[in-house]
Amino acid sequence: MSLPPLVEPASELTVDEVRRYSRHLIIPDVGMAGQRRLKNAKVLCVGAGGLGSPALMYLAAAGVGTLGIVEFDVVDESNLQRQIIHGQSDVGRSKAESARDSVKEINPFVDVVLHEVALDSSNALDIFAGYDLIVDGTDNFATRYLVNDACVLLGKPYVWGSIYRFDGQASVFWAEHGPCYRCLYPEPPPPGMVPSCAEGGVLGVLCASVGSIQVNEAIKLLTGVGEPLVGRLMIYDALETSYRELRVRKDPECAVCGKNPTVTELIDYEAFCGTVSAEALDAARDSTITVRQLADMMDRGDDFLLVDVREPHEYEIVSIPGSVLIPKGEIVSGAALATLPQDRPIVLHCKTGARSAECLAVLKGAGFADAVHVGGGVVAWVNQIEPDKPNY
Ligand code: ZN
Repeated sequence: MSLPPLVEPASELTVDEVRRYSRHLIIPDVGMAGQRRLKNAKVLCVGAGGLGSPALMYLAAAGVGTLGIVEFDVVDESNLQRQIIHGQSDVGRSKAESARDSVKEINPFVDVVLHEVALDSSNALDIFAGYDLIVDGTDNFATRYLVNDACVLLGKPYVWGSIYRFDGQASVFWAEHGPCYRCLYPEPPPPGMVPSCAEGGVLGVLCASVGSIQVNEAIKLLTGVGEPLVGRLMIYDALETSYRELRVRKDPECAVCGKNPTVTELIDYEAFCGTVSAEALDAARDSTITVRQLADMMDRGDDFLLVDVREPHEYEIVSIPGSVLIPKGEIVSGAALATLPQDRPIVLHCKTGARSAECLAVLKGAGFADAVHVGGGVVAWVNQIEPDKPNY
């Protein structure tokens, strides 16, 4: 399936632009008309992180005339392993400003528009309205459903990518010509089931593999060349170096793009997706302590067992003194419950508090009534108590 170009050509290229884009101009499928379409194009990139970095850099180099960047985070040292639009001297700076400076350095002819806000139901439609297509570089389900629904409601193509460890996926969702993200994934995964890259890790170069597929799709849609990934899910395995492709069909019962949609305006996506399960929220409500309280308990010499529910390779990076490693899987399966003491309080912690809250719910259900977990996990511990230790 080929589609007509998304964008009308700009009136003309300047002499400087002709020189800059000459390697595009001599490709017959792109040519002067295609490059003028890119010049007229307005592309929004949601996130200037792992996928947003290569996406923004190649969109800029390709000569996309207007690039919008939605990003409100700050550059952290742990970003630099994969977020190559930022450099060492950008640590601590606004990611949006750092990304803008890199884009301008790559191609001064690009207009950059910064949206330094958290994208949500109140602002997504207004922001998206000014762009031809949306490239998604986010890593959480709430934002994906938000971006998808806003694109369906506005009739815009959604160039999606996802990365985890060595696995990448990409597709183009465009309800007018094929399925949307909800046709593929009608429901978000249960909270706590799918680890994020911050929890599970990601091979840095995988961002380039998937981000470049996204840029390739964006350029094809803008200029109307080739076969877009509409209705196809690309699955990349970096360990095997193999690509697979799955057909994705439009779901006539889809909640947002089906025949009788139930989602006709943007909803509360945080509530829709959750970040931890209802059971975990319930268990943690009166049983969460701060890292400062944990430090005080240690200083007083209180008798308790500190259980780290992360994975062994995380424990190797950094741990809280005196903690015992029992990975979440062994608690959730029940295998480790018999080894836990009944005669003294149990304090659970993980990286940031999500996994430990899930484990807390299991422990409460198994009768460990005075178990608690540490809000913010080892990340908060390092930030507030032992700042000389590494964080990740
Ligand atoms: Zn759909």
